[in-house]
Amino acid sequence: MKTAFDRLNIKPFLLNAMTEQGFKKPTDIQERVVPGILNGQDIIGQSQTGSGKTLAFLLPVLSKIDPERNEIQAVITAPTRELAQQIFDEYEKLVPYFPEDQQVRAKTVVGGTDRKRMADRLKNAPHLIIGTPGRIKDLVKNEGISIFSATTLIVDEADQMLDMGFIEDVDQVASRMANEIQMLVFSATIPEKLQPFLKKYMNNPRHVHVSPEHVTAKEIKHVLIPLKHRDKKKTLIEVAKAYNPYLCLIFVNTKRTADEVAEAMLAEGLNVERIHGDVPPRERKSIMKRVQKAEFQYVVATDLAARGIDIKGISHIINFELPTDLDYYIHRTGRTGRAGMSGIAATIYEPSDQLAIQKLQSRNIHFVQEELKNGEWVEAQVRVKKAAVPKGKSGVSLSKPKKVKPGYKKKIAEEKRKIEKRQNRNKR
Ligand code: AMP
Repeated sequence: MKTAFDRLNIKPFLLNAMTEQGFKKPTDIQERVVPGILNGQDIIGQSQTGSGKTLAFLLPVLSKIDPERNEIQAVITAPTRELAQQIFDEYEKLVPYFPEDQQVRAKTVVGGTDRKRMADRLKNAPHLIIGTPGRIKDLVKNEGISIFSATTLIVDEADQMLDMGFIEDVDQVASRMANEIQMLVFSATIPEKLQPFLKKYMNNPRHVHVSPEHVTAKEIKHVLIPLKHRDKKKTLIEVAKAYNPYLCLIFVNTKRTADEVAEAMLAEGLNVERIHGDVPPRERKSIMKRVQKAEFQYVVATDLAARGIDIKGISHIINFELPTDLDYYIHRTGRTGRAGMSGIAATIYEPSDQLAIQKLQSRNIHFVQEELKNGEWVEAQVRVKKAAVPKGKSGVSLSKPKKVKPGYKKKIAEEKRKIEKRQNRNKR
């Protein structure tokens, strides 16, 4: 039977895998990058987790690998070990469909594993390695693992690599690969600072942009919830309890807040865990495993710890606070509503969030405002700080960005500076 995947020209056993996994048609990003990757083009895929981007590069890369050549042919780099593991998990789901004579071997190369042992493991050359750039660089430099045979490099979550200072490592990995490489870069955003790296390695790349509206995340309801108590954690706990979610990710901006929020929730008897950069890697790994098994109902996370992680069945996201960089709003809310499921992305907001919310609205995010009254969700009565709205209006609906009179621009600029100052202070 022909399926919408046929036109992608990937290997027949991979087509079979798609059908067997119940995927009816390629996602936008898959449709738009797979043919180019198969043709050897350099591609910048601007899309986010949830768009089906992992298969968008895995399917063509696995199709191109020659299983008869016992050498590393492609390298996939990801900013965190969790993300690398996740890509490997997607690969593993395809393994049962590989015919006997077309077994493509992949191995993970991430920190936390004994270096020598890993090097031994890699002596039985895999065709594909998936790992964090620092670790791959390490192995190549110190343990004599050769990636000179590899002609395809995938950089996943490139903007996060940049944020975490890993681009240098990716650069080193790239420089140890074949002279002519095909480079595929995936990133939710393409910051200016990434350009020198892209220019260095990419040859006339095709830029494919899939906007958030087109990701597999179909139904995300963006909810604004006004802060009711002086103690924000109290509002959060009320909201969290009222949702009674299957699995809820709660986003905070700092590690300290993550600990505080998780403790407050624990004290209320909620089933909660937290993940952030200070949680030791081994513990993070075991927490992630337990999260995947839905052992917790709530997970409090900072952005860097949670980005790119595809946890199945996240029904709710709560922004305890808005991120300083609003791109992260998109990353955070993209964690729910995966693959056609609906999800709720709630933000507890204060009047000082007004500007940020308007910016998000201008990026086509449609908010509804709700609050809890006697345990029921009702439309919120919003009150916004006077300084941020035209004179004579005590309250303003946040559902449409308002035009602001010129005299207020100064006040808003002041307000904005204050907010930024406060947020910078809170920054990790
Ligand atoms: P990713 O953007 O790679 O994190 O993928 C998000 C989720 O979408 C994963 O759980 C995939 O299994 C799923 N997915 C990938 N491709 C498709 C597709 N063509 N149709 C439906 N779901 C898909």
